[in-house]
Amino acid sequence: METIAERLKSALESLEQANQKANRAPNSVQLLAVSKTKPVSDIVQAYEAGHRLFGENYVQEGVEKIQALQELSDIQWHFIGPLQSNKTKMVAENFDWVQSVERAKIAQRLNDQRTPHKRLNVLIQVNINAEESKAGVLPEDVDDLANLVKSLPNLKLRGLMAIPNAAQNEEQLMQTFLQMKALYTQLRQNYSSIDTLSMGMSNDMQQAVLAGSTMVRVGTAIFGART
Ligand SMILES: *Cc1c(COP(=O)(O)O)cnc(C)c1O
Repeated sequence: METIAERLKSALESLEQANQKANRAPNSVQLLAVSKTKPVSDIVQAYEAGHRLFGENYVQEGVEKIQALQELSDIQWHFIGPLQSNKTKMVAENFDWVQSVERAKIAQRLNDQRTPHKRLNVLIQVNINAEESKAGVLPEDVDDLANLVKSLPNLKLRGLMAIPNAAQNEEQLMQTFLQMKALYTQLRQNYSSIDTLSMGMSNDMQQAVLAGSTMVRVGTAIFGART
């Protein structure tokens, strides 16, 4: 059995390999360790191995972990799951980033509930394959939501996040990642605060990096399978 520290190291190495293969500058991709369903002790192991970026999917579970680990104050916490309006306050008060903003109402509430002068970093989630069952705004609606987020003083627009349709073959998946990259590049020209394109998970992080991802969200490859 490999330890979390060992798996973390392998994940970072394979990221850097993909990064080099894509001829991108060293360290141009961040690794978000997705710790959903995993115990606080697993997060501590990754922390002790030097990791600082963690992602959680469920509000209640995430906030409990953040509060349990308050002493590790240099952890950067990302909320990456579906967000209902009755849970925005807990997210606004506890997380550093929200990657799953997909509605004006949610953006507005996060802004109103955030401590002033401590801006919450926001990614807009894009439903890039226009799947009926999937969260996110359609590509053509990204600009409207970006405009709104930009106008809200307690939010900082940092970029885009996507979860592509997992049923695609490798070529289709690459096409999807490249569509996200194009959308991101276009948006970046209009919003100077944008620097993050969050795409790629355990099974497709190399491809995502080749296509231009700046942050991969990796759970299983670091913490093992979720039961
Ligand atoms: C669970 C999850 C991940 C991590 O998935 P793995 O396949 O375990 O790497 C990434 N992003 C989101 C939004 C998730 O919900």
